[in-house]
Amino acid sequence: TRKPIMAGNWKMNLNHVEATGMVQKLAWTLADKEYDGSKSECVVVPPFTDLRTVQTLIDGERMPFILGAQNVSEHDSGAHTGEISADMLAKLQVTYVVVGHSERRQFHGETDELINTKAKKVIAAGMTPIICVGEGLDIRKEGTHVEYTLNQVRGTLAGLTAEQVAGLVIAYEPVWAIGTGEVATPADAQEVCGAIRAEVAALYDQPTADAVRIQYGGSVKSGNVAQIMAQPDVDGALVGGASLQPEEFAAIVRFY
Ligand code: 13P
Repeated sequence: TRKPIMAGNWKMNLNHVEATGMVQKLAWTLADKEYDGSKSECVVVPPFTDLRTVQTLIDGERMPFILGAQNVSEHDSGAHTGEISADMLAKLQVTYVVVGHSERRQFHGETDELINTKAKKVIAAGMTPIICVGEGLDIRKEGTHVEYTLNQVRGTLAGLTAEQVAGLVIAYEPVWAIGTGEVATPADAQEVCGAIRAEVAALYDQPTADAVRIQYGGSVKSGNVAQIMAQPDVDGALVGGASLQPEEFAAIVRFY
């Protein structure tokens, strides 16, 4: 059985002082809901500059949260001004690293090949990648969204072993549903998440496909999370906007 992974991607919001308030409110709200992390993982994914502060809070207050980062360099170290290495993130007790978010693909030219390299760096540093895939509106209108997304899956998983794939997370985020309020229907989410799992079975084997966790992302809210999580191949949510509202995000984490 796959443990649901509910991750809040803050994107470029909240400085490290604001992050303190956010994480404390989230902890209080979840404590009220008797959340202890046993039935779902609660991952907070703040900007790089907040990681140390949030890590200290989680550790010091024994909060039932897991730390994530939004991006990583494809290089190990050296003359790469402005970049952050996987080892630096691991040293901060980061567990999950989002790679290939659609905003990185769209506005920073990230390709499947680059994202594949980043995923390998994350794994080599002992962390777990959350690999993002998903189609834009033009592809959705053409009706080729499944094939388009599976192509991204093949490209971003290239060269990874079955064991590595079994341990990672794939996030299906249709770009047309991100930040638009236009959530995919539960059936839309299931269609592609199911196809991704079948593709992993074809590329590797059934145990690997049964183990890999697949998230849906795109306008997830407390009001629609239960229906989405009820789909057999959806194992979690990657949440943007709603993760900036502690009550909303707490309700999403405590969807069950
Ligand atoms: P929204 O939840 O704001 O649509 O963002 C989704 C997303 O991109 C999470 O990574």
